[in-house]
Amino acid sequence: MRRIYFDHNATTPAEPRVVKLVLEQAENFWGNPSSGHLDGEKAKRVIEENRAIIAKAINAKEREIVFTSGGTEANNLAIKGVAEALGKKGKHLITSSIEHESVRRVFRQLEKKGFEVSWLGVDAEGVIDPRVFEKALREDTILVSIMLANNEIGTIQPIKQLAGIAHKKGVYFHCDGVQGLGKIPIDVEELGVDLMSLSGHKVYGFKGIGALYIRRGVKFIPQIVGGHQERNRRAGTENIVGIMSFGYAVKLYLEEGKEWEKKVLWLRDKLEKGLKERFPEIKFNSRARNRLPNTVNVSFPGMDGEIILLNLDALGVSVSTGSACRAGMVEPSYVLRAIGLDEAEAKSALRISLGKDNTEEEVKQFLRVLEAVLNRIKKEN
Ligand SMILES: *Cc1c(COP(=O)(O)O)cnc(C)c1O
Repeated sequence: MRRIYFDHNATTPAEPRVVKLVLEQAENFWGNPSSGHLDGEKAKRVIEENRAIIAKAINAKEREIVFTSGGTEANNLAIKGVAEALGKKGKHLITSSIEHESVRRVFRQLEKKGFEVSWLGVDAEGVIDPRVFEKALREDTILVSIMLANNEIGTIQPIKQLAGIAHKKGVYFHCDGVQGLGKIPIDVEELGVDLMSLSGHKVYGFKGIGALYIRRGVKFIPQIVGGHQERNRRAGTENIVGIMSFGYAVKLYLEEGKEWEKKVLWLRDKLEKGLKERFPEIKFNSRARNRLPNTVNVSFPGMDGEIILLNLDALGVSVSTGSACRAGMVEPSYVLRAIGLDEAEAKSALRISLGKDNTEEEVKQFLRVLEAVLNRIKKEN
């Protein structure tokens, strides 16, 4: 039987139409975009076409998009780049306690280099309180980094409001938008953010490609230096195949995204209804009023999420216990701890993240398999 893939927040399968197009096109665009001849010019053109698509998807201007090797590099570039540029002006930074590792660990590094970081807590839904945020801002604050949507519980932050507060104090606002793109509409002008990270493989493109939106005029120091690519903001010969995959995937999103969102939401409601009916004991950790349409996170009291995951895997179902980056590690999810779960509750969690190509039959089959797994585990105990 075909496997059921319910782990789209870890990665999305590359869309077959994207793979096909890139395979067909790759041999036409092998030139070095920095070369002055036609072979280079062709490669350059395809990069710029795809840059325009990414820019359009978030209502940015083309020159505000810098291609990177992924969301991780975009987060590193944004935070380190601004901290380095403004470090003389101030040493205070603000982030939340539920950011992705690629934000968290950058801030940990900066703490070791003499910066001071305020790690804002969240409420039981995973939301940052704008009043708490406002109080955290100081005279020497230079940068805020808060994610658009959380990868584990799907909570969407009030970014527009938070960025507005930061701007009143003249503080730059970076937003990790990786989990938002492809799932919810994004408009950087409307949100008022100064920098935003994006990733190709979370939106049905290839791995190893991402982008950082940098609003015109924002001061930052490039972190990878060498050639003059990306208007001197990120050196290195461009990942043309990756860029094509990213651009085409986002083009499909622009054309079909409304349908993806509607379908995923419909499936999620079926899934949540089924979970509630079959397993009345479970606790829903993804319950913010404003949340991603595809993400369901539940705890099974008294059980071990890792064991449920392994059993599901053996029966052909892929889910997660938290974020993929932490799989294999025994410590419980810091995101679930941050919304108030105790260690046992956090360890009993399962994240189910749906995608545009999942079906109602898969949801039904998943519920049947999960029931069998839970019954087997209970019997063994
Ligand atoms: C996946 C993810 C990243 C990292 O992106 P990569 O392209 O895998 O490096 C960053 N932030 C969030 C919220 C993510 O889900």
